[in-house]
Amino acid sequence: MTKLTINKAVEMALPDPFLGRHLIDGEWIEGAETFTRISPSHDTVVSVSAKGDETTTEAAITAARRAFDRGDWSRISAKERSAVLLKVADLIEANVERIAVQETLESGKPISQSRGEVSGAADLWRYAASLARTSHGDSHNSLGADMLGVVVKDPIGVVSIITPWNFPFWILSQKLPFALAAGCTVVVKPSEVTPSSTVMLGELLIAAGLPSGVCNIVLGHGQPVGSLMSTHKDVDMVTFTGSTAVGKMITEASAGTLKKVALELGGKNPQVIMPDADLENAADAVTFGVYFNVGQCCNSSSRIIVHEDIAEDFVARVVALSRLVKFGDPMDPDTQVGAIVTADHQRKIDSYVQQAVAAGAKLELGGGALPVEGLGSQFYQPTVVSNVTPDMAIAREEVFGPVLSVLTFRTLEEAIALTNDSEYGLSAGIWCNDIHTCLEYARRAEAGTVWTNTWMDGYPELAFGGVKESGQGREIGRYGYDEFLEVKSLVMRVGRDSRAPWVEASA
Ligand code: NAD
Repeated sequence: MTKLTINKAVEMALPDPFLGRHLIDGEWIEGAETFTRISPSHDTVVSVSAKGDETTTEAAITAARRAFDRGDWSRISAKERSAVLLKVADLIEANVERIAVQETLESGKPISQSRGEVSGAADLWRYAASLARTSHGDSHNSLGADMLGVVVKDPIGVVSIITPWNFPFWILSQKLPFALAAGCTVVVKPSEVTPSSTVMLGELLIAAGLPSGVCNIVLGHGQPVGSLMSTHKDVDMVTFTGSTAVGKMITEASAGTLKKVALELGGKNPQVIMPDADLENAADAVTFGVYFNVGQCCNSSSRIIVHEDIAEDFVARVVALSRLVKFGDPMDPDTQVGAIVTADHQRKIDSYVQQAVAAGAKLELGGGALPVEGLGSQFYQPTVVSNVTPDMAIAREEVFGPVLSVLTFRTLEEAIALTNDSEYGLSAGIWCNDIHTCLEYARRAEAGTVWTNTWMDGYPELAFGGVKESGQGREIGRYGYDEFLEVKSLVMRVGRDSRAPWVEASA
C-alpha cells in the first residue's frame, strides 16, 4: 500500500491496484492479457484488468443467451426479480466507500461526488424493482362476444450494455437494473479507462443471488469487444452511452442483424439567461453546470446564451464564482472539481480554447493547465470565453472540459434559434421570471430535457435521453424501462360459438 498525503489534514493509504476479471456464466475469468489504468490525478497504477478478446466476448454472449432461454430469470415472477434488485441496492449502500475510492482513483472525479453517485445509484435499483412489480400490458374485451385481445410485454432478450468513463457506476445503473427488471440477460462492457466499479457491482450481483449467466461482464476495448457485442446475432439489443461518433459506428454495425439500438450520446447544452432572471441563482447554476465533473459531462452547460443588456454583469458574476470553486486533489473531501481523464483529452480541451482565442474570442478567465501542488499536470483551469460566435468549434462541439462559451442575444426568437442551431439536442435551460416565456422556450427547444430556473436535476421517475445527434431511445423512468420490453398481441377466441368458416363446405 502507498501512503498518500491528501492535504495538510488528511493522510490515507492508497488501496493496492484493483485486479479486474471478466464475469462469464457466474465464473470470474482471468485474461491471458491485461491492461492497466494509471490514476489521472495520482500518476500511479490503480487497476490491472483482464483484456477481453473475441473468444471471451463470444463466451459471454453465449452465456447470456443460454441464461435467457433457460428462463430462470426471464420467466420468473417480477416479485422474485425485484427481490434480487432490492438486495443489490442494499449491498451497494453497504459498499459505497470501497467503490467510490476506486471510481475516484480511475476517473479523477472528487471523492465526495463519487460517494454521492454510488449511494445515489442504489435508488435507481430500487426504482427499477418497483417498475418490475407495476408494469403491465392492456386487455381488450370489446372485440366481440367471443374474442379477447391481450397485449403483453416480454423481455426483449439478450442486451449488450456499453458504457463510457465519465460516470461509470451511475450510467451502468441507469441501464442494468432496468434491463434486469424487465427479465433480460446482459453482457456489459465498461470503458477501458474505468473498468473496476463495474466488476465490483458484478460481485454484488452474485452476492445478491442473481442466477449465473444473467449478467456477464467483459473488460476491454471497443475493438474487438464492443464491436462484437454490436454485431453478434444472439444479441437482441444494444444500449450504449458514449460519443456520437461511436454511437454511429454501433448503429451501422448492428444493422446486419437489425437489432434494437438505444443511444445516449453527446450534447452542447445551452442555458438562456433572460434579463428578468434571478441572476444570482442563474450564475451559480451556470458555474455548477460547466465545472461539474470537470465539464466531462454529457449534460454540461458548456454554452450560455445571455441577453445583451445583462451579459457583462452576468459574465462578471460567473467569473467571480468560478474563482471560488475548489479545484484540486480528487481524494480531498473538500474538492469540488478534480482531474482531466487523460493527457490526450486535456490537450484537446486546450486546443478548443486556443483556437477560439485565435479566432477573436476573449478569455475572461483561465485557458491553460492548472498546477495542483504535489500532483501531475492533468488539471485544467476554470475557463470562461466570451465574444464567441455560433460558427466557432467551441460553440458547436463538445469540449468536455471546464470551459464556458458565452454567446449573446436580443430577442427570445434569437435565443431559441441559437439553442436549436446545433447537431445535438440533449438538454437545454432557461432562466426567466415569466412563466409564459419559460413555457414557450421549453416547448420549442429541441432537446430531450428542458430545465426552467434550475439545471441538471434528475429523477429516476423522469425519462432521460436526447434528440438529433444526442441519441435515440430513453433511459430511466417508465419510458426507459419499456425500452427493454417487446410488445406482443394475443388474439384469443374464447366463446363457445365456432369461428365462421372461410371455405364453404361442399354439400
Ligand atoms: P466513447 O464513445 O469513446 O466510448 C464509450 C464506450 O464505447 C467505451 O466503453 C468504449 O470502449 C466503447 N467503444 C469504443 N469503440 C467502440 C466500437 N467501435 N464499438 C462498440 N463499442 C465501442 O465515449 P467516452 O469517451 O468513453 O465518453 C465520453 C462521451 O460519452 C461523450 O461524448 C459524452 O457526451 C458521452 N456521454 C453521453 C451521456 C448521455 O447520457 N447522453 C452520458 C455520459 C457520456
